[in-house]
Amino acid sequence: MAHDESAARRSSAELTRAGESQLVAIGKKPVLREPDEAPKRAKPRWMRELQRSITSVDELAKRLGLSAEELEGARRAEQAGLPLRITPHSLSLLDRDDASCPLRRQCVPHADEAREVPGDLVDPLGEEAHEAAPHLVQRYPDRALLLVTDRCALYCRFCTRSRMVGDGGGAVPLARLEPAMRYLAAHPEVRDVIVSGGDPLTLSTDRLVRVLARLREIPSIETIRLATRVPVTLPSRITAELVRALRPYHPIWVMTHFNHPRELAAANLRALTRLVDAGFPINNQTVMLRGINDDAEVLAELFRKLVRARVRPYYILQADPVRGTGHLRTSLAHSIEVYGKLQGHLTGIALPKLIVDTPGGMGKVPVGPEWIVERAPGRTRLRTHRGVEVDYVDPPEPG
Ligand code: SF4
Repeated sequence: MAHDESAARRSSAELTRAGESQLVAIGKKPVLREPDEAPKRAKPRWMRELQRSITSVDELAKRLGLSAEELEGARRAEQAGLPLRITPHSLSLLDRDDASCPLRRQCVPHADEAREVPGDLVDPLGEEAHEAAPHLVQRYPDRALLLVTDRCALYCRFCTRSRMVGDGGGAVPLARLEPAMRYLAAHPEVRDVIVSGGDPLTLSTDRLVRVLARLREIPSIETIRLATRVPVTLPSRITAELVRALRPYHPIWVMTHFNHPRELAAANLRALTRLVDAGFPINNQTVMLRGINDDAEVLAELFRKLVRARVRPYYILQADPVRGTGHLRTSLAHSIEVYGKLQGHLTGIALPKLIVDTPGGMGKVPVGPEWIVERAPGRTRLRTHRGVEVDYVDPPEPG
């Protein structure tokens, strides 16, 4: 394990003393500013890019020919609910004249966000009911989710946490994460911590390092996962300085979120290469989205590109029933049909599991086409991707 013990065990209190926060306006609302963002120091390129993000209807309308539905959706987003925020990088990839562009539909608000459909939930994964400590969610015995900020580089219109992201809280001060840290220390059965939000890579490197250093003071935590969409939306954030700063806290797995092959542009591929070369395994979770990627050819192209970039296609997630996302979600039957077309046509390392994260936070369930036709004692009839039925015969019971 590449692990610089002295840096990893550097006391988080020491790091905290080095980094008292101050307020700064980034985007629409004031957020905590880190010492490395002090005005006399030139801001890194990624921070300047973040500040140039589109956050208002007027800016958006200047850059895109908005449809009436998009204009209505953007006006609504400006006033309430999940805010509007699109990075310059993501803007550069989407089609400016086509409202049906699959990248555009993921980030440009739509009037249908105001529409509720049966089954919609504000908190579909029951995260609030599973809060173990402030900013800490535990839905499984061996892992927990640490929510370190409500900020993202871009607000995805299908976001499961739309109830809380972008609500103006910004980065959670380390002192406010301390009850969560104490809970983790008192529960050694939690071996895997997913650092999420919001997007943890919107934090300054110093602040993120302080969070990781504090987690690494808890010996029972084996793996840390960084859940981030920044490799998709703000690849300039994946700097040499960032990977150097994070490496001492390995093993860190990166969980990212590419939904369409067009999101793998040259800058995104460079960011992924930098992470993989620095020893960060990357898993990708794709959300099945109606009219965006609910097509076997689109998904096959995405997964092949990810594998070439040394990213493991980990899950296809059936979209969570988040309030106001009915227009983006597929039926489960359609998702299973699309998934069935991938089986047998993609190498196993490019084929993720299709997962339903059940409403209410009851846990993930893998789903797929019915490959088992019939079970009988000692014999199971299977249907292959060729449509052929074949019997598998069990060995005789011992003795
Ligand atoms: S980056 Fe993640 S948390 Fe942020 S809006 Fe997108 S899906 Fe939600």
